[in-house]
Amino acid sequence: MNQPTINKPRILTGDTPTGRLHLGHWVGSLENRVAMQSSYECFFIIANVHAFTTRAERPEDIRQSVLEIATDYLACGIDPNVSTILLQSEIPAIAELTFFFAMLVPFARLMRNPTLKDEIRDKGLGDSYSFGFLLYPVGQIADILAFRPDMVPVGEDQMAHLELSREVARRFDQMYCGVDPQTPDKEYVAAGGLFPIIEPKLGRVKRLVGIGGPSEEGRLLKMSKSLNNAIFLSDEPDAVRKKVMAMYTDPNRKRATDPGTVENNPLWIFHEAFNPDVHWVQEAEAKYRAGGIGDVECKKKLVDVLVNLIEPMRQRRQTFERDPGEVWRVLQRGTARANIIAEETLLKAKEAMRQDLLPRSLAFNL
Ligand code: ATP
Ligand code: MG
Repeated sequence: MNQPTINKPRILTGDTPTGRLHLGHWVGSLENRVAMQSSYECFFIIANVHAFTTRAERPEDIRQSVLEIATDYLACGIDPNVSTILLQSEIPAIAELTFFFAMLVPFARLMRNPTLKDEIRDKGLGDSYSFGFLLYPVGQIADILAFRPDMVPVGEDQMAHLELSREVARRFDQMYCGVDPQTPDKEYVAAGGLFPIIEPKLGRVKRLVGIGGPSEEGRLLKMSKSLNNAIFLSDEPDAVRKKVMAMYTDPNRKRATDPGTVENNPLWIFHEAFNPDVHWVQEAEAKYRAGGIGDVECKKKLVDVLVNLIEPMRQRRQTFERDPGEVWRVLQRGTARANIIAEETLLKAKEAMRQDLLPRSLAFNL
């Protein structure tokens, strides 16, 4: 169980415990993780420290959500005997690396990060966000690089953060490991660098929209745990049905005989993302454009498609819900194993930075 796997390329990715996992996570990242876990050495981090960046006043919710996310992982097919699930707050090397990496990120560069700007706007953070909120992309670099992965499967909103992690890895390797700046990204480690220049891996759907309508500026918001616009992998069939039947579609269409717009319409975005019957989708889209099919019929079809996908996960989830002790044990074992690797990375980083001054070791409860 959780034996170190030799010679498999490594993946690191994860989620913030700010709720339960939803369909956006599935097509954006989870689906890839489940498919790749036998051929890659996988680390999945539950980023509970980062959850404090937007909800420091709700510690109990974050605690509960750690359990929810770990349960969702197991429910959707992540196998803890193959993959390592870890809890960010119990990996001290991540916090230490965050501080060192913060010195390698120019402040102005951080503030240009479009994902931070989107989050500030979409989550309504105004100008009251904390210094810690701005620090989280740097923390995320440490989450990633602590495990020196080859690949990071994420949704599109994470691309700006991953670019930052590539920049920091290059800077560290050049500054402390003597890697020539002309070195191609893929060759940094072979050239003596400690940190790989990671590759992002986008999911089948890079940014799934939510089921709510557009924002004031007319943009469809991404499905997000925090925006109350998600269909969760743990939703019961009745909840899925209610959400789909109430979902935003073409607002100009009053009856089935009105011609409808398919583009930017969540109903069709969802059918294209989840309905395996491509032929039906194509035909129904053509009818919709011509005013030959009703929203209700298309929504009912979507309910069936989504329930088919979600129901096996939800059923599996129930067995883990009955035994939360086992879920915590999975996290404990995974975190212990992850600490071995993260400590090794931190020691190597300190060696490179000439700060391997006093040896230390951590004790883990297995
Ligand atoms: P929060 O609202 O707290 O930011 P979230 O729903 O955005 O939560 P995260 O924990 O921030 O979820 O993201 C976890 C992973 O899932 C990231 O790789 C992110 O890119 C991906 N992801 C999240 N939402 C979507 C989406 N709607 N479509 C595609 N990928 C997504
Ligand atoms: Mg997010």
